[in-house]
Amino acid sequence: MNQNSPLDQALSLFEYSQSIRRDLHRNPEIGFHEFRTSQVVINELAALGYEVQSGIAETGVVGLLPGVDGYPVIMLRFDMDALPIQEENQTDYVSQNPGVMHACGHDAHVAIGLTIARLLASTEETRRATIKLIFQPAEEGLGGAERMIAEGVLTNPKPDFALGLHVWNERPTGWMGISSGPIMAGADTFRVNIQGKGGHGGHPHETIDPIVAAAQVVSACQTIVSRTVSPLDSAVVSFCQIQGGSTFNVIPHQVVMGGTIRSYLPKVRANILQQIERIVENISRGMGCEGIVEVKEITPTLTNHSGVANKLVTAFRKKFNTLQIDDHFQTMVSEDFAFFLKDVPGAFFFVGSSNANLGLNFGHHHPQFDIDEMVIPIAVSLMIEAVAELSQKSLSE
Ligand SMILES: [Zn+2]
Ligand SMILES: [Zn+2]
Repeated sequence: MNQNSPLDQALSLFEYSQSIRRDLHRNPEIGFHEFRTSQVVINELAALGYEVQSGIAETGVVGLLPGVDGYPVIMLRFDMDALPIQEENQTDYVSQNPGVMHACGHDAHVAIGLTIARLLASTEETRRATIKLIFQPAEEGLGGAERMIAEGVLTNPKPDFALGLHVWNERPTGWMGISSGPIMAGADTFRVNIQGKGGHGGHPHETIDPIVAAAQVVSACQTIVSRTVSPLDSAVVSFCQIQGGSTFNVIPHQVVMGGTIRSYLPKVRANILQQIERIVENISRGMGCEGIVEVKEITPTLTNHSGVANKLVTAFRKKFNTLQIDDHFQTMVSEDFAFFLKDVPGAFFFVGSSNANLGLNFGHHHPQFDIDEMVIPIAVSLMIEAVAELSQKSLSE
């Protein structure tokens, strides 16, 4: 391996990283439809000599670089999907696919993954660990990780460690965040259906108004976190959709609402589910309606393995002395990488990607989201360093 620092190595491939990222940004694809993206990944990995498996969970790709027996198998995962958002940027790499946009930075994740693939492929003489690169479809709430796991990506070979990352526009380039334990919230979605009896808006006494009941339900649910969750725990209950009625003088039969629950601890989640059911059913009944709530689990809490995370923090502090490292970072956003970490010890971390001076500081999922591409070499070098650390010896020592 060349003697340059991981950051120098990553910077030497910056033009390559940028061209991959911009090509994917121009050609975003929605979850489970990342066919072109997947082909780019397959071509690059095959050219570098990786053993490539494709078509896993529709468009998922695995690239394997065998190492020496007795050394760890290290899995690195990168997600590939875009979002159903119309891009409002005016760059020369703006999305060419109407209504679809890389508004979360997964285009950068693929570019980071392929740049890492290049650097690791050039370490043949010194590398001992087996490298398993996973390019995953459909991270954005569509279940890509679970499908890849169901189709066997955690076997043959089974990874000893799993690593993942996210570019993060909530912080500037030069920052990274990690935690030696829970780092991202578990997410559930819920759907509330309140049935009443519709009728003329001028004759409310002849109806059972589900809109008034829905308003009370939304207000009462604001007390779940504020009155039933310990102030020392974290939780969110957000109503994000309300649908009821179609015109100004008709009271509708029903109101349908949707939202999300975020929590870190199983006992907090269990309490919220119980409270939301209690409020929806009883307030609706009190108002003469019938209220039902259905909850669907999306991802569990993403919990880093403390041994792995601590090892990485120590190494990053030693090797990246200009980087601002937050080792107690947590967010209420969720990630399906959580499913990989249920089976494999590992860590997920965030790499600051915004640059306010360049106007590159819109949040994730915003139609003007864009990143400072300098995050790519930083993320690549952190991951290369993480692989080097985990390749050295077993954590059980
Ligand atoms: Zn996202
Ligand atoms: Zn994302």
